[in-house]
Amino acid sequence: MANSILEVALPVPMRRVFDYLCPESLCDVINIGSRVAVSFGHRQLIGIVVATKSESEWQIDKLKPIRKLLDDEPVIDEALFTLLNWASKYYHHPIGEVLTTAIPARLRKGEANERPGLTYWQATDEGMSADLDSLKRAAKQQQLLQKLQQGRQPESLLREHYSPQIFTGLRKKAFIESLQVIPALSCDWAQHIEVSDKPFASKEQAVVISALKQQTQQFSVSLIEGVTGSGKTEVYLQAIEPILMQGVQVLVLVPEIGLTPQTVSRFQHRFQIEVGVLHSGMTDNERLSVWQRAKAGDLGIVIGTRSAVFTPFNKLGMIIIDEEHDSSYKQADGLRYHARDMAVMRAKQLNIPLLLGSATPSLESLHNARQKRYRHFQLHQRAGNALHTHFHTLDLRQQPLQFGLAPGTIKQIRHHLEQGNQVLIFLNRRGYAPALLCHECGHVELCGHCERPYTMHKQMNQLHCHHCGHSKGLPRQCSECHSKDIAPLGMGTEQLEQGIQQMFPQYSAIRIDSDTMRAKSRLNQILDDIQSGEHQLLIGTQILAKGHHFPNVTLVVVVDIDGALFSADYRSAEQLAQLITQIAGRAGRASKPGEMWLQSHHPGHPLIEDLLHNGYGHFARQLLLERQHANLPPFSYQVLIRAESAEKQAAYDFLLSLCRSFRETPLQDQATLQAIGPLPALLEKRQGRYRFQLILQSQGRAPLHEALQRQLAMMESHPLASKVRWSVDIDPQEFY
Ligand code: ADP
Ligand code: ZN
Ligand code: ZN
Repeated sequence: MANSILEVALPVPMRRVFDYLCPESLCDVINIGSRVAVSFGHRQLIGIVVATKSESEWQIDKLKPIRKLLDDEPVIDEALFTLLNWASKYYHHPIGEVLTTAIPARLRKGEANERPGLTYWQATDEGMSADLDSLKRAAKQQQLLQKLQQGRQPESLLREHYSPQIFTGLRKKAFIESLQVIPALSCDWAQHIEVSDKPFASKEQAVVISALKQQTQQFSVSLIEGVTGSGKTEVYLQAIEPILMQGVQVLVLVPEIGLTPQTVSRFQHRFQIEVGVLHSGMTDNERLSVWQRAKAGDLGIVIGTRSAVFTPFNKLGMIIIDEEHDSSYKQADGLRYHARDMAVMRAKQLNIPLLLGSATPSLESLHNARQKRYRHFQLHQRAGNALHTHFHTLDLRQQPLQFGLAPGTIKQIRHHLEQGNQVLIFLNRRGYAPALLCHECGHVELCGHCERPYTMHKQMNQLHCHHCGHSKGLPRQCSECHSKDIAPLGMGTEQLEQGIQQMFPQYSAIRIDSDTMRAKSRLNQILDDIQSGEHQLLIGTQILAKGHHFPNVTLVVVVDIDGALFSADYRSAEQLAQLITQIAGRAGRASKPGEMWLQSHHPGHPLIEDLLHNGYGHFARQLLLERQHANLPPFSYQVLIRAESAEKQAAYDFLLSLCRSFRETPLQDQATLQAIGPLPALLEKRQGRYRFQLILQSQGRAPLHEALQRQLAMMESHPLASKVRWSVDIDPQEFY
């Protein structure tokens, strides 16, 4: 009985695989990475075969046979399988959930993995022999026929250049016809590449491009640090050209909201080949089709958001991550992976280059570049006209505030509106841990043990230090100037939107945040309206900083900069600086230079000064030094364990016992472990459940992960485990 037992990964939250019997007739044909239908308890599930073996630790007669084999060809090939196995181990996430998140929804449901036909157009016999001159008066028809006389073309590619009427016109003349083709497994597209509208690279660009071209056949990570508009995308385009020419595929990752039709058409236009697109707004059918075609090799370029990092390819030759600092690359639930880290691993396994690009690189990548683990390139010059944004800080201390705005700010807004320009008001809604601040003198309540701002927890009437775990009751007055005018940061801005409309009734205000913009089409509509000047006041959150240009915005107001400066979440300052820099790079134009006003109780804060005078690059390097002194990532490694329960005590006790056993067990290699907590989560209670968290931190990644692995077994069998919902977040990006 050789290999008659299958190990199957199932989409259940258990950290193990399950044994099933393999019918004898299938033993020789079943592949690792193929889907099988099985009975699991009373349910029917779709699982993925992860191993075959001849013996089981269970009694053979207790094992059930699989119900059905669904694939002849594995849906997860060997390379992806290796990657996903790594992800399951690294993120300490059940393999069944990892493997099934990586395949399209329709395959997850067990539907057949058949490749649908695509619509192609070709010239008929009449069309082939037709005289092109006869179409002189219909230039577009003439162009299309000429193109099709050279060979058939997929409709999706032609649609960009030719309207439906052109097709109808030629079809009526019986010159062209459409047909359904199941694309062969091929890199056919490589023969059709026509490089068009390629500008001469600038000197700076040329240096990067030629360095990249010298190393296309082996693993490397390159960070391109270049200001907005410095031509990073142009560098990507020229760097992938030789790769595509060899019939090798390229994957481009972009932030959630940065995937615009313009981005796609820029790649499409340059190479005249079809570009596969993957994002959350697509139907399951559309996703499956791109997934299948990338796997079969008939798409040269795939552009997608975070989860596109799992796309299978026939032959992948390069991965590019644009705006690599963007927080949408980190998945916030389920398998909490970071697409950048997945991409590094994938590139390493395939031995191919990875390009990271950003105007405001993450401290992680910057650190890796400075440690020479990544190659580092800088683009200083802007292609086209330079922009100058003038920065001003506005002191909020003792100012009478209206909806969080100081009189000086309101005056500025009025002034810019009266000039017929647009004003962008930026509100931080990242869910900062609110620090307690004195409006009179600007003093922020700091933990006496570690000098970091306390976080206010309203429900408990307490201040907690999320750095060392210390807590105390809420003070009634400022410990510096004894004023009673103390409040958590960021208060008073909730009604900003209505307030603005009241203050400026003759202007149209529009709010742009991820809630109102859930549908992509709606966002594009609103961006068009803004472009055409329909709204004058734009109130927005983080979403505004992602890839959109606002040429008529001449004033940007950042309402609450202190929230980020004094957050327990040490990433806040980095993210705020990225945002400010990104927005400054996208507002205004040469003929209409912009201003940015930052409201703060600490206008002279060294970090603000550094950012405004020396730019993001300098600021980020300062911040790295601070992180190093404080022993925070990327100089140490963190794991966040979240727990929530209907009974308040259950989640707390669960984490407490976990915290104790972490503290009692020494780490390997004499690494030290800091276990901070359990602390109330920033949102202490949600949907009737109490939420707590435990932060684990160590300077050694491997020992930390090893300790976590040991504790996970204990967590699963913990007496409180049934009452508590808990999750593990490796390299957490957010702390609420
Ligand atoms: P980034 O990706 O850094 O924001 P882009 O590649 O989009 O920059 O370039 C900004 C603008 O400058 C684009 O309109 C692009 O077409 C143009 N551009 C970039 N490089 C060149 C070049 N070498 N010659 C002419 N125009 C360029
Ligand atoms: Zn402290
Ligand atoms: Zn004070």
